[in-house]
Amino acid sequence: MIVVEGLQKRYTSGGRPLPVLRSINFEVAQESFVSVVGPSGSGKTTLLGLLAGLDEPTAGRVYLDGVDIFGLTEDGRAEFRSRNVGFVFQTFHLLPTLTAIENVLVPLELRGDYDGARDQAEDLLVRVGLAERLAHYPAQLSGGEQQRVALARAFVNRPKILFADEPTGNLDQGTGEGIVEMLEELNRVSGTTLVLVTHDMALAERAHRVISLSRGQIASDRRGVTAG
Ligand code: ADP
Ligand code: MG
Repeated sequence: MIVVEGLQKRYTSGGRPLPVLRSINFEVAQESFVSVVGPSGSGKTTLLGLLAGLDEPTAGRVYLDGVDIFGLTEDGRAEFRSRNVGFVFQTFHLLPTLTAIENVLVPLELRGDYDGARDQAEDLLVRVGLAERLAHYPAQLSGGEQQRVALARAFVNRPKILFADEPTGNLDQGTGEGIVEMLEELNRVSGTTLVLVTHDMALAERAHRVISLSRGQIASDRRGVTAG
């Protein structure tokens, strides 16, 4: 489902090149749940942004579902993303002037997909336990509730792949566990390939496989951590 070949990312900082990812190679099987761990600054967010096609690499290729995403034009990549990829951010990234249900509808509107959109958005918000919060604005929701809205929004396009960058980083432990349980359920029930970046080793160990990044390289890649 995901194939990464010779992926490199260099930033320029103060006129000097700053290598952040150094030739990353791996594959992720369809319907699997993979965690990415590593110290702060090791390149986790950079890697996830590249895998999702949100940013462009210095070198290397990423294939999602067989498509060379950096072989597409920027518009083509945006279109591909809107049909195949969901992304959950640590800081939720909800639009403050839109209600919960309106936030969930945004990806469908960008796609021009209105048929049954409202019902679909409502169904998802019910599934994440927010049936009573459809018309709440982000400022009227707790952190955990905002992240559940963000999860519903990431999932409304029924993406084949869901990327989550420290989605529990701003939540207390119990709330964070609830978010990861929902991600796991989406992976298990809908077969969505899930790539989760987390600092929390206990959460990371729930994945089928844990990839550790260290200074822009894969330091370890362990499979079969859990039976599931
Ligand atoms: P992590 O998510 O593992 O904490 P990041 O991928 O955010 O790490 O960052 C990896 C390194 O890349 C850091 O040293 C960071 O300072 C640097 N970096 C990230 N984004 C940029 C950018 N836009 N410009 C320059 N340097 C960046
Ligand atoms: Mg990060």
